[in-house]
Amino acid sequence: MGDDLREYRRKRDLAASGEPGGGKRRARGPIFVIQKHDASSLHYDLRLEADGVLKSWAVPKGPSTDPRDKRLAMRTEDHPLDYADFEGVIPEGNYGAGTVIVWDTGVYRNTTTDRDGNEVPVAEAVRRGHVSFELHGRKLTGGFALTRTGSDDRRWILIKKRDEGADARRNPTSTQPESVLSGRTNQDLADAGE
Ligand code: MN
Repeated sequence: MGDDLREYRRKRDLAASGEPGGGKRRARGPIFVIQKHDASSLHYDLRLEADGVLKSWAVPKGPSTDPRDKRLAMRTEDHPLDYADFEGVIPEGNYGAGTVIVWDTGVYRNTTTDRDGNEVPVAEAVRRGHVSFELHGRKLTGGFALTRTGSDDRRWILIKKRDEGADARRNPTSTQPESVLSGRTNQDLADAGE
């Protein structure tokens, strides 16, 4: 019995029903999430699971699939793991007031190595100022890198690596604005006043 969920899956069209596929996701690796956050200024919160929290950066222009783009990424506070599937409206008067959707999510693989080719754990890589990782999302796939720049500890640069997930002609932040969880946009949430 390698897979006790075979019957569960055989009975369902999970893509159509929206029901959970069950348990496999976490086994394949740590999760990442990119939340589109329409706050006082629009940005995309990139979060990587490491050491039981979500290491976080705010990317004003969002991620690019064009390896020539360098996107500013401001390091923000670690978030709890269960923030990864949060969508909703943060009410006026609260920190980060505005709408949040899960723009992309999935698992990722840490590909950060030191000069000797040994893997550097993500939390340590963040302290050192360089993280390489491979995303397995719905909108984004392949290698990315985050690198701290200059003297300001908060300023990092996010780039797409050259691989099969790179595509200079794609512009997913404008052509695919919707949530991968609910299909809703930030405007949908704002209109619903949730
Ligand atoms: Mn934010």
